[in-house]
Amino acid sequence: MLEIDIARKTYPDRGGRSHVALEGLRLSASPGEFVCLVGPSGCGKSTLLNLVVGLDSDMDGRVQLDGRAPGKDIGVMFQEPRLMPWLSVLENVMLVTSDAHATRARAIELLRAMELGDVLDAYPGRLSGGMQRRVALARAFVIEPALLLMDEPFVSLDAPTADRLRAMLVELWQRRRSTVLFVTHDLREALALADRICFLSAAPGRVVLEVQVSLLRPRAPNDAAVLALQAGLLAQHPDLLAGLITTEPATDA
Ligand code: ADP
Ligand code: MG
Repeated sequence: MLEIDIARKTYPDRGGRSHVALEGLRLSASPGEFVCLVGPSGCGKSTLLNLVVGLDSDMDGRVQLDGRAPGKDIGVMFQEPRLMPWLSVLENVMLVTSDAHATRARAIELLRAMELGDVLDAYPGRLSGGMQRRVALARAFVIEPALLLMDEPFVSLDAPTADRLRAMLVELWQRRRSTVLFVTHDLREALALADRICFLSAAPGRVVLEVQVSLLRPRAPNDAAVLALQAGLLAQHPDLLAGLITTEPATDA
């Protein structure tokens, strides 16, 4: 169980004042649950993920995974693939593992499953953007993480490539059943992926609406059912994607 309770997260501002990035943000996720976070630019989504992964611990609040501060058992994937250009594809995936011997076979299996079996020894610079994201996806999964954090991992890809990567992600998640926190500003992407969507307010970010998504999988962002859900949500809350909501939380989609 992931439990996040952030009373306040501030950044020092120029001129000695401070910028409140998150305030009163409470969020939990069950083991194996796929949660999408949707919120306007600047509302503190990346800030939140940094706090969860422990890259930043300067806050008034608490993050717990199964009753403890999250440890090393977290996979992450960012907007940029963040691969090491001087390491091969396989070395990049194995970089995050501590037991090289045990994970080499798993890394190769994962990369083959992502149709990267022919480029194990290639350097990332030779690969297309979509292939680089697949390497980053393999790297996030190779440790079989209890928790997977993804920060807009598929932006700036063409639609078919992004669709394919989403399908691969869902397949890996269904096998491993990691708890996933997936940040996006694309509502259709969230509806295509999530068990539950948490909508965040404009800065300072907090959860203003939670929506259960019970559509059968596999789903894609252009499915009629996804488009219908999107239209329904936006009809009910026209300013939802700006982080503004006028009615009370807890809607069932
Ligand atoms: P999002 O990912 O939702 O677009 P961020 O979490 O990146 O938002 O940023 C939230 C707010 O906090 C923004 O106003 C941003 O300028 C500010 N911010 C983010 N990181 C820092 C930092 N290291 N120092 C100061 N301000 C920051
Ligand atoms: Mg961000």
